[in-house]
Amino acid sequence: AGKLPRPTSPRIITVANQKGGVGKTTTAVNIAAALALHSLGVLVVDLDPQGNASTALGIDHRSPDIDSVYELLLGEVELRDTIQRSPNNENLYCVPATLDLAGAEIELVSMVARENRLRNAINGDLLAELGIDYVLIDCPPSLGLLTVNAMVAAREVLIPIQCEYYALEGVGQLLRNIELVQAHLNPALHVSTIVLTMYDGRTKLADQVAEEVRNHFGDRVLSTVIPRSVKVSEAPGYAMTIIEYDPGSRGAMSYLDAGRELAMRAHREENSSNRVGEAQ
Ligand code: ADP
Ligand code: MG
Repeated sequence: AGKLPRPTSPRIITVANQKGGVGKTTTAVNIAAALALHSLGVLVVDLDPQGNASTALGIDHRSPDIDSVYELLLGEVELRDTIQRSPNNENLYCVPATLDLAGAEIELVSMVARENRLRNAINGDLLAELGIDYVLIDCPPSLGLLTVNAMVAAREVLIPIQCEYYALEGVGQLLRNIELVQAHLNPALHVSTIVLTMYDGRTKLADQVAEEVRNHFGDRVLSTVIPRSVKVSEAPGYAMTIIEYDPGSRGAMSYLDAGRELAMRAHREENSSNRVGEAQ
């Protein structure tokens, strides 16, 4: 594994798309594992009550005793209490999600600074202490308060787009929400990266979708395209990402390439002042 540049301050990236099943979680955990394999420190914040990202990283999120992102958002615990190290890679950490989180969407409504809770909880000193270079936030399939919290906490949005019919359906609404958050809550927020997922080279449609997305988003679309592969979908069943489950597979190679591309683009992202832990 060649060396990848380390960003001067942690890059906080929200993986969002309100459509379910487009590859948000798969992309978040596999890019995280790819970066960690290159000795970069990575924290995945699981913001989906299903906890699929936690599972893929080998983190137990079913135990009633763990402190999860739910307690973190409610302000009952600190980031340090919730972070677990992945058994798969010592550079990989996770703040797990539990099913309680499903209620948070409603419980947060009446809370002070309800949109800023994740941002305020992400402690820059702790990230530095653990050597974390990347924070990837895996969003639920909605544009509710959890996703808004993710957008306020991050500087970058990564949008996975499935190479399928209606690929761009809903993306306009997502972009409008990002603009609203940028206008009112987080001026530094922007769409930095698009990842094309579940590409099936045998279909003409996949190429048409890829072309349409590239026309629309230009060089923000990674040149690496993630192929559809059964192995990618099998890996979480073994509490792994494809990077550990089958390192030589096309799926693993594509996520390693995607991680490398993302890291090499870091220089574009360095010129902003939106530092972790800084007040709004
Ligand atoms: P989301 O988080 O957007 O809901 P997921 O990452 O959970 O989407 O992916 C939806 C389903 O598609 C999951 O069952 C996942 O394993 C599968 N999947 C994701 N990426 C691929 C891929 N490249 N090839 C095959 N199956 C995939
Ligand atoms: Mg998901």
